[in-house]
Amino acid sequence: MSKPKVTFYWCASCGGCEETVVDLAEGVLDVVAAVDIVLWPVALDFKYKDIEAMADKSIAVSFINGAVRTSEQEHICKLLRQKSQLVVSFGSCAGSGGIPALANLTNKQDIFTTVYLDNPSLDNKEKKVPKELSREGKYDLTLPSFYDTVYKLDDIIEVDYYLPGCPPTPELIAQAVGAILKNQLPPKGTILSPNKALCSSCKLNDSKPEDIAIKEIKRVIDIKLDPSKCYLAQGVVCMGPATRDGCGVSCINGNMPCTGCFGPTDSVKDQGAEMISALGGIIDADSSEQLNKCFARLPDPAGTFYRYGMSASLLGSKNKKE
Ligand code: SF4
Ligand code: SF4
Repeated sequence: MSKPKVTFYWCASCGGCEETVVDLAEGVLDVVAAVDIVLWPVALDFKYKDIEAMADKSIAVSFINGAVRTSEQEHICKLLRQKSQLVVSFGSCAGSGGIPALANLTNKQDIFTTVYLDNPSLDNKEKKVPKELSREGKYDLTLPSFYDTVYKLDDIIEVDYYLPGCPPTPELIAQAVGAILKNQLPPKGTILSPNKALCSSCKLNDSKPEDIAIKEIKRVIDIKLDPSKCYLAQGVVCMGPATRDGCGVSCINGNMPCTGCFGPTDSVKDQGAEMISALGGIIDADSSEQLNKCFARLPDPAGTFYRYGMSASLLGSKNKKE
């Protein structure tokens, strides 16, 4: 019997999700032995035309990481959807836009100006910016369109399952691959990680007072964090109350607050709004002056509350009309 065909594809991402597949260590050998990988641009030299030539639904599962921000990414995602029985959204960027989606606070023109024209480390006297079509000698060169908006994967194609995290843990990946191979899958649309808040697994949860009251928000550079006390109770924004469990509480175990990469639980519509609401309940301020003082040490609210989820947020994008 032939082995199930699998693809790993990346869109706008840092490559960390690909790393975590390799981090399966010896487990990756089990995966490789059990499946037939037919596309994995980061590791293997297959061509898009190999996929185009395959019959529809002949791929068992495609794991797609990264947000969608170019026409090439959109095209390949649609191609993989057509050729695959299952599509798994792999990681925060595919699931909710991730770090790339913070660019939804601006637009293509401003990004190109910052990167190619106003960049002090760039020598670009001719003021060149990438174009979709340009001529080099007698050759036409083409580039994919760069979209104004960064999309999450399910804005572009139907998604069957979601693996959250920046990146998903090797354990969650191994469980997901195992469930797919054994055909023991939960209902379609399931996020393959426990549906409860991270705080419930955190070793510092017992130190969290029933009624937290903080007078100012602090950054980790402002204080010496006490590793035995809940970080939120120390005044540091820890996204644990608004974040889904499943990562092994790795940041807190490494003495850093959670930044929210596993996204929200099923009952939460907007992770950032949930955290702002949680903070609203614990800030001890009687006046707007006190409130402003409290938030004065939070220079990047969007990057704090929506670091991984701008494409899924109620705020959406500055470029809605696209
Ligand atoms: S807020 Fe953060 S540090 Fe406190 S219990 Fe929740 S996850 Fe742990
Ligand atoms: S602690 Fe938070 S930011 Fe860190 S890996 Fe877990 S969910 Fe992601």
